[in-house]
Amino acid sequence: MSAADSGLRATVLLPEPIEEEALALLGERGLNVLASPDKKPETVAALMPRADAVVLRTGLRMSAELIERGERLLTISRTGAGFDNVDLPAATRRGAIVTSSIGANTQTVAEHALALILALAKQLPLLDRETRAGNFQARYDYRPRDLRGAVLGVIGFGRIGRELARACAAGLGMGVLAFDPYLEPRKQDRSWVSFCALEDLLARADVVSIHVPLTEQTRGLLDRERLARMKKGALIVNTSRGGLIDEQALAQALESGQIGGAGIDVFGREPPEAGNPLLAAPSAILTPHAAALTRECVVRMAVLAVRRVLDVLDGFLPDNVANPEVLQQERWRNLKPRSGSGPQ
Ligand code: NAD
Repeated sequence: MSAADSGLRATVLLPEPIEEEALALLGERGLNVLASPDKKPETVAALMPRADAVVLRTGLRMSAELIERGERLLTISRTGAGFDNVDLPAATRRGAIVTSSIGANTQTVAEHALALILALAKQLPLLDRETRAGNFQARYDYRPRDLRGAVLGVIGFGRIGRELARACAAGLGMGVLAFDPYLEPRKQDRSWVSFCALEDLLARADVVSIHVPLTEQTRGLLDRERLARMKKGALIVNTSRGGLIDEQALAQALESGQIGGAGIDVFGREPPEAGNPLLAAPSAILTPHAAALTRECVVRMAVLAVRRVLDVLDGFLPDNVANPEVLQQERWRNLKPRSGSGPQ
């Protein structure tokens, strides 16, 4: 029986530290906080049998092995949006609800993608380097680009993709193409965006920004062949997940000029290993999976992740359940619906 069922104080395991505001919320509720001394799987494994809930950032993969050790586990709550570091079938077998603070970082990640697009188009890192090196002549040597009238291709027209598209269309006067075969038709009904096939988008977009989750279907979405079919000199931005692009092929396409520049926040392996070819690509701007980590957003994400845990412990159905099939299990039969617990 779980702590929540028996009226004992529930224990919330933190494999990585979370922000003070979120910790305070756990404290106010008198919950036991079990902070792991480090995020190594073997350290966390030893603590799992005591956990009723886990608040999970991106630094640890919640593997089947870890989840199976969670004898009392009720929920895993992600501070971010993606679930690719959680073994969802294993969580369902354990009877644990997996949830996230999806939505809390939408605007923040869209801003980061926009910053990368602007920095690439205006060649900011390059011009900055040249100016510091005393090469004022660089103002004549390089030709940054305008974005007004250029075409943005958004792959994945979900929360972040839509937000970026709106900013680029309304703020910069860009045209917008989108590819998202899973979007309800109602959400495709917008006058300022044209939905099209992926191949079409790649052939026509001046800037391609990726906003799909990493799944077995989307892994390697931008492979060598698709990169070759893109408009010559187009820019690519990936703030979604590293595994979506073939990094080797992208580095070569940057080298050859087929791709004019890439803004990359996420890598196939994080941190990227020393031999990752993107580290040496001069026309790439790289950030360390930091798109959501603004001072405001980290607090929002952690607080929301804790709220989802409290929802489950209080017997409410949390938002954004990633493994809805778990709700068929007997232990979750009496969850109460909750209104107003969405992102704030
Ligand atoms: P979302 O669920 O609102 O949107 C994802 C969209 O992708 C949906 O509209 C879905 O229909 C679409 N999609 C799914 N599979 C597709 C496919 N094969 N082809 C085309 N479209 C497909 O998610 P979101 O909040 O917009 O986040 C998007 C992704 O951004 C997340 O999955 C996460 O991996 C990533 N992310 C990264 C950071 C970061 O720090 N860099 C932060 C937040 C989110």
